[in-house]
Amino acid sequence: MKNLTLEHIAEACGGIYHGTEAMKKEEVASIFTDSRKAEKGGLFVPIKGARVDAHDFIPQVMEQGVLATLSEKDLGEQEYPYIQVESSLLAVKEIAEYYLKQLQIPVVGITGSVGKTSTKEMIAAVLSQKYNTLKTQGNFNNELGLPLTVFRLREEHEIAVLEMGISDFGEMHRLAKIARPDTCVITNIGLCHLEFLKSRDGILKAKTEIFDYLKEDGHIILNGDDDKLITVREAKGIRPVFFGIKNHQDIWADEIQPEGLKGISCRIHAGEESFSVLIPIPGHHMVYNALAGTAVGLTYGLTLEEIRAGIESLQPVSGRFHILETGKYTVIDDCYNANPVSMRASLDVLADALGRKIALLGDMGELGEEEVQMHREVGEYAVSKDIDMLVCVGKLSQYMAEAARTKAEKKEVLYFADKEILMEQLPQILKQGDTVLVKASHFMEFGKLVERLSEL
Ligand code: ATP
Ligand code: MG
Repeated sequence: MKNLTLEHIAEACGGIYHGTEAMKKEEVASIFTDSRKAEKGGLFVPIKGARVDAHDFIPQVMEQGVLATLSEKDLGEQEYPYIQVESSLLAVKEIAEYYLKQLQIPVVGITGSVGKTSTKEMIAAVLSQKYNTLKTQGNFNNELGLPLTVFRLREEHEIAVLEMGISDFGEMHRLAKIARPDTCVITNIGLCHLEFLKSRDGILKAKTEIFDYLKEDGHIILNGDDDKLITVREAKGIRPVFFGIKNHQDIWADEIQPEGLKGISCRIHAGEESFSVLIPIPGHHMVYNALAGTAVGLTYGLTLEEIRAGIESLQPVSGRFHILETGKYTVIDDCYNANPVSMRASLDVLADALGRKIALLGDMGELGEEEVQMHREVGEYAVSKDIDMLVCVGKLSQYMAEAARTKAEKKEVLYFADKEILMEQLPQILKQGDTVLVKASHFMEFGKLVERLSEL
């Protein structure tokens, strides 16, 4: 990793270097935290978890050709070099900040309540048409995931697309300090993480901490259809570029046409120019993600043709509206995450599917005081759509089922307290040719339902 010698690392995190003078000048090949994936020439970062303290693995990790380790403890005299720090977690953030700063690669930082990963994938698909692009893998978006993503950057990368996720005030400030984005994208201000952030205004305030370290000649790209984001008229003297589906936005879309499970097509306008595109993942929200991708593409000098090709090259990520043909059913694997906004979006797409349509929905977490009401509303929404059966699973989802039954007595609504019982009964409930949407918050582990459906 360019210029990342043990000496520089110790300096960057204020650690004490233990080792020979000669080793001090060695560059590390990588930085890793997983002791099972020791990397030759790398720097091991042991993190203390709730159950395991990775410091216990230092001796075995160091036997595998690893260059050095961080340590929160004084390890005494050792054959290998190590850097003693107060907190490994703090140290990785400081090292990441230092490393990214000296690489001087432009950074696109993405935050928002819903759709960060999906938007990140879209932006990276677009930028990859022109640049060697590094993107956050999966959902590595927090105070450990972001540094680990930064450590994957190498000199040959031309741009980084980084997802930044938070659940409390101050966190975004710390993430922004590491990423120092040239371009900030905010997808929306929804209803996630209400436990700490209390209200949508609280969420707006916490998310806009991303501007704290925005470069002076940077760019801000916001969803202008979001009633909170549209109030951001400038930050650091920069006027945001707004995207949305209405034509008063800078980048906007019309001719929006769902193409079943093939995706959704639309025409995207930027100033006087426009192009039509088939976004290969269904859902109205994907139009927003494509608009964000277009805005970022234009910022970095891509042609509209390159942007269109980028959008069309988008690959689905498992758990996020990934469509699986099992041979028996069409499964919409959307089990990675759920909240009231994304539940509605996914139900809209399910309603466009062919054949019998089944929504298999589970609890949504982190909704704060109004969680019961929000589950009720999703239940009512589900039965208001053209969907044949609603199956609700989990403690909070009983309210979803109850509200759904009250609103539409004739609709088939099933309730299961836990998914194990449902798994056994799935063969009786479903019929060949059904389209099944599987969606809940991550902690519900609905991935297991998707697995089961693939086996039937
Ligand atoms: P997390 O906070 O877990 O990182 P996230 O913000 O990265 O979540 P995604 O994983 O991209 O969000 O998407 C979550 C769900 O929201 C997906 O299932 C998808 O269907 C839906 N979604 C994707 N993009 C949008 C969008 N722009 N607006 C609303 N919903 C969206
Ligand atoms: Mg995410």
